[in-house]
Amino acid sequence: MAGITDGFTGAVGHTPLIRLRALSELTGCDILGKAEFMNPGGSVKDRAALGILQAAEANGQLGPGGTVVEGTAGNTGIGLAHLCNARGYRCLIVIPETQSAEKIAQLRILGAEVRTVPAVPYADPNNYVRLSGRIAAETPGAVWANQFDNLANRQAHFDSTGPEIWEQCEGQVDAWVSATGTGGTYAGVALFLKERRPGLRCVLADPHGSALYQWATSGELRSEGSSVTEGIGNSRVTANLEGAPIDDAVRIDDPEALRTIYELLWREGLYMGGSVGINVAAAVETARRLGPGHRIVTVLCDSGDRYRSRLYDQAWLTSKGLAMPRKPAPEPGP
Ligand code: PMP
Repeated sequence: MAGITDGFTGAVGHTPLIRLRALSELTGCDILGKAEFMNPGGSVKDRAALGILQAAEANGQLGPGGTVVEGTAGNTGIGLAHLCNARGYRCLIVIPETQSAEKIAQLRILGAEVRTVPAVPYADPNNYVRLSGRIAAETPGAVWANQFDNLANRQAHFDSTGPEIWEQCEGQVDAWVSATGTGGTYAGVALFLKERRPGLRCVLADPHGSALYQWATSGELRSEGSSVTEGIGNSRVTANLEGAPIDDAVRIDDPEALRTIYELLWREGLYMGGSVGINVAAAVETARRLGPGHRIVTVLCDSGDRYRSRLYDQAWLTSKGLAMPRKPAPEPGP
């Protein structure tokens, strides 16, 4: 990554691939995390946001002074807001009011116009995604980013995240594990890596409350329970997920995801968001299923800082019936 990058846009991607030492040792596999929290907007969604804007610019939908409208759980909005500032667009974000206060506050700091709305299912016309589509249609000069069904999302990962992983691993990769929100990250990387190495296992990770685990394992879109993780899981198969290879699926519950992010903090020094707990726990489960000697890649989607008042707050965790993991006593040094 030598040299000078051009503005915010030039700084998107090219993230490190981090070997998770404790979990690699535990499983006898190489467990690697793509450090997407190191993108300039702080999450994996910078890549999708950039891909979507570039596609809209290329096809003439978006031009100088235009408006970008999106329904987002937060990270796509944050990526879009940064990019809209950097490229001279207005940014209007519709977000469910259940998302973390940190993400909503950050969107406002970045200058996006933010509309918080009640969290209602996709079938409801007032669902945040559907509402954002209507607002875009009614706003002159606006484009709807439409991250769930706009294939520029997964194309961005096919063109950048996948090739970076392939090169960083020098082609030595046995499994790709990721949760899906829009499906852009999972599908873009899965399609790229599978093309290079057909024997690679693509594993969909899913939280409770999402229908995708059941869909991947039995073909039926059905969900059970719920999750405090944000940005992942879905009740439907998006255009971005459609047609992506899925060889296996793993469902992770919140206590396990929580244990995983605190392990990452205490043992690896990595301060991560909740979806990372689902991803890394699913990577560990995949290592168990494959046995020692394999290399497994997953995504470190965003930082724990976006969830300070939730996943790292004892009172909030208690209110959700979750116990805050306790820090173990340090092991005696050499
Ligand atoms: N983790 C977090 C924290 C996210 O915000 C998102 C995006 N919704 C994802 C994971 C999933 O990414 P994708 O939309 O590419 O499936």
